[in-house]
Amino acid sequence: MTLKKPLQLTNSLSSILPSAMVAITCAVALSACGNASTETADNEQTTEKTTISNGEVITIYSSRNEQLIKPLLDKYSNETGTTIELVTDKAGPLIARLKAEGSSTPADMFLTVDAGNLWQAANKSLLQPFTSPTIEANVPAKYRDPKNRWTALSLRARTIFYNPKKVKKGELYTYEDLAHRRWRGRLCLRTSKKVYNQSLVASMIHNLGAGGAAYAVKGWVRNLATDVFADDVALLKAIDSGQCAVGIANTYYYGRMLEENPNLNVKLYWANQSTTGVHVNVSGAGIVANADNPSRALDLIEWLSSDKAQEVYSSADKEYPVKVDVPVSPMLSRGVLLFLII
Ligand code: FE
Repeated sequence: MTLKKPLQLTNSLSSILPSAMVAITCAVALSACGNASTETADNEQTTEKTTISNGEVITIYSSRNEQLIKPLLDKYSNETGTTIELVTDKAGPLIARLKAEGSSTPADMFLTVDAGNLWQAANKSLLQPFTSPTIEANVPAKYRDPKNRWTALSLRARTIFYNPKKVKKGELYTYEDLAHRRWRGRLCLRTSKKVYNQSLVASMIHNLGAGGAAYAVKGWVRNLATDVFADDVALLKAIDSGQCAVGIANTYYYGRMLEENPNLNVKLYWANQSTTGVHVNVSGAGIVANADNPSRALDLIEWLSSDKAQEVYSSADKEYPVKVDVPVSPMLSRGVLLFLII
């Protein structure tokens, strides 16, 4: 899905998201993302167990960075007394594991990033539909599966970043414009093996047609300044050092880096604002089809959509809340201000 900023921006991104023009519906984005098969957790497989007990246990298969998601889960455990067993791995292996385990799976909930991964799990009948007035109230319909098998829990924008010493004001325009010859030897990209770029290109296929997207991607490859990067952080560091003039990355990596180093030589540019809008993806969760404890899994998913959890997505993870009335962290608001003064 893609978003356009409204003509009048305030200093809060929460003002952008609800009023943004949605150029692609969730359903379209999902079908477009259907071929995405890899995923993004940075951690090796681990199993964590919190200790509180009310007799209830939820087992979560999660591809989210454990460092980022565990504080939220611990908060839920402490509030409710529910024990959480967290199994962390990449989404592809977790989906394969759910399929292999079938009715004997210990998993109650699947937590992951990217609509492509959620779509895959749902399409393999690994998730069960659920009805929740809480989720319906907290999460706009465009960020939920039309068949109610998963819901988004945070939003993640993938946009253009640049080194202000290497790029002139007014040079930037759209993702596809980075295929133009004036970017020859100046562009850096993350590998196409990761789901983030696969989903971005899927949205470009929707917006530009297969021919237009292929033309853009071929131009990107011609324009590369270096070999592709394994992750967005390495790419942003290369922009900071001047190795690359421009690149494409997810905004939360930038937010986390900016928090550590406010003097980063990297600026954010909201792509495609006069065309289709910036590419936005989601993180989200669903209840496993063969869950032993689906009601408690739903309770946790609802809790993750609450104001207090959504604020953590914003303040700690630097992702955008999916719940429209949750204020974003000052860091994210500043990101918008940086954009405004470009
Ligand atoms: Fe990521």
